[in-house]
Amino acid sequence: MYSCSYSWCPKKFPRKDSRNRHEKLVHEKPDSRLNRKLEKKRMEDEAKARRLAEVNPSAGVARFKSMLKKKKSISRLANR
Ligand SMILES: [Zn+2]
Repeated sequence: MYSCSYSWCPKKFPRKDSRNRHEKLVHEKPDSRLNRKLEKKRMEDEAKARRLAEVNPSAGVARFKSMLKKKKSISRLANR
């Protein structure tokens, strides 16, 4: 048996050429069903993040500030 060379893909094939065909059709074609699905999910995640930033822009700033604070306390410890 030949298993698909994409480790997360569970497909197995009795013949090497059918495996190659599968890899070409499913993984290497940018508009295959699987790749379209992955791309759609990526775009949805991006849109979600953008929406969150629009609704609450200070959330990003607050996180940045707390990062700076953390950094300061670390350097204070280092100076001791
Ligand atoms: Zn596969």
